[in-house]
Amino acid sequence: MPARRSNITIDGVEVEVTLKVIKHVHIRVSPPHGTVRVSAPCGTSLDEIHTIVLSRLGWIRRHQVRFAQSAAFTAPRMETGELHYCWGKPYPLLVREGPTVRVELWNGELVLEVPSGSSKEERERLLERWYRQELKGAIPSVLARWERIVGVHPSQWGVRKMRTLWGSCNTKTARIWFNLELAKKHPESLDYVAVHELTHLLEPSHGARFEKLVARAMPDWEGCHQRISQSIFDPGIWVQGLQ
Ligand SMILES: [Zn+2]
Repeated sequence: MPARRSNITIDGVEVEVTLKVIKHVHIRVSPPHGTVRVSAPCGTSLDEIHTIVLSRLGWIRRHQVRFAQSAAFTAPRMETGELHYCWGKPYPLLVREGPTVRVELWNGELVLEVPSGSSKEERERLLERWYRQELKGAIPSVLARWERIVGVHPSQWGVRKMRTLWGSCNTKTARIWFNLELAKKHPESLDYVAVHELTHLLEPSHGARFEKLVARAMPDWEGCHQRISQSIFDPGIWVQGLQ
C-alpha cells in the first residue's frame, strides 16, 4: 500500500502525518525549523493521532524551542574544539596529524590522530569505527548482567545505525540490535535498551505484561525510558522510538 500523507494542526502545531506499513507510531521533530512528522501504521485514525500528539506536545515544544535557540545548528565539521559525546559526557575534539590513525580519550579530550590532509568524511568514518568498538566492547557485560536478571538469552546481537530506533529485536530469531548512537549516551541508556529488547524475547508486544516484566527487571525503568525517548539522534534528528 502506498504511503498516505496529510497535514493537520494540533493546538497550533503543524503536523505532517504519513500512514504506512509499520508497527509503531513515530514522532519526529526535525531541524532546523522544528518540523513535526508523525508516521503511523495504516488504519490509524486522525483522532488517534491527535491524542498521541497531544500527549507528546510538551516534548515537541521543548525540542522546537531548542532548535529555535540553536539557530546556528550545523552538521559536525570534525574540527578541533567541536564537542562530541561519549557515554553521556561531552569531550572537545582534538584533531592532530600524526604517524598513526587512531582515536582515544585523553586528558578530557577526544583525540583524533589522522594523516595530514584527512577529509571530514575520513575523520567521521574513523570516529564512527571507534564508537562501534566502544559499544561492542561494552555490550557483552551489559547483556550478561541483564540476561541473568531477565532470564533470557539472545541467539545473537549486533550494532547498527538506525534512524528511528534505539534498539530492535527479532523475536523469531532471538536476535537483538543496538543503535550505534548508544555509545554517545549515558550508559544507563544501553542498560535500558538491553532490558527492553531482552524482555521482548518473553513478550513481543508493549502491553501490560511487557511493562510488568521490564519493571521487575529494572524498577527505575520509567526514568530511563523517558530520558532515552527524549534524547537526540545525530545528526540532529529528534526521534522517539523503541521497537
Ligand atoms: Zn519494544
